[in-house]
Amino acid sequence: AQQGAKHARHMQALGQIAGGVAHEFNNILQAVQGAANLIEKRAADPVSVRKFARIVIGSSERGSTITYRLLAFARRSRVHPERIDPASMLDALREILTHTLGGQVIVRVELEPMLPAVIVDRKELETALINLATNARDAMPKGGTLTLSAVAETVGTAGIHPAALRPGRYARLEVHDDGAGMEPETLARAAEPFFTTKPVGQGTGLGLSMAKGFAEQSGGGLAIDSEPGCGTTVTLWLPVAEGDQQTAATRHAVREPGAI
Ligand code: ADP
Repeated sequence: AQQGAKHARHMQALGQIAGGVAHEFNNILQAVQGAANLIEKRAADPVSVRKFARIVIGSSERGSTITYRLLAFARRSRVHPERIDPASMLDALREILTHTLGGQVIVRVELEPMLPAVIVDRKELETALINLATNARDAMPKGGTLTLSAVAETVGTAGIHPAALRPGRYARLEVHDDGAGMEPETLARAAEPFFTTKPVGQGTGLGLSMAKGFAEQSGGGLAIDSEPGCGTTVTLWLPVAEGDQQTAATRHAVREPGAI
């Protein structure tokens, strides 16, 4: 029921945007069409032509504004990044998930002491983690253990990082389940928008792609590890907030050169 409600909200939001845009564009096109028809009919009358041309111009401008706003929305220009302590967020989530995922799923949280803060949009991080936890629950229909964990990690320049991260300090958040896991074909496509293996009405295929989009737009990344029959780990790397670069281990040591 929880997931049904979540997906219903997703689809409702998408439907509202699509419906709103379609309605606006229909109005605009009607105005353009009407004015263009009148220009054709009254082509000999410069006053009318100028008047109706104004309508065509004004309506097209409105169309551009809507497109611009929509693109800004798609680029998540309305996010409010703030300083988040991953430890308290995961602790709070454990409470919520223990109640919402059902008694079959045991929720554990494993935290490294003195985790650095990250700078992300709180709602987006919460939504991403809840979506990942819901996927984990769906992969464990007979119950199992969901583990949320967080450690600090330094990404260096050597080698190619699984999430193509830039060198720097990150908080690495993992959502692990011991459920069904994914076959290689599913794993390869899991983070594609609208890819789902769930029945119609139960899966939108947006959970992983949105979580990945969120992590990347926050300056981090996402990777998925999965073994059929064993379980799945989804890892989110989020960049550490400035001034929080040093963790317990490095706090009294000399700061590495090049670390920002
Ligand atoms: P949805 O959950 O709506 O299907 P997602 O983008 O979150 O959309 O996931 C896409 C697909 O990836 C799922 O349909 C499922 O096949 C697979 N998947 C995601 N998370 C897991 C998981 N923890 N265990 C097994 N399969 C998963």
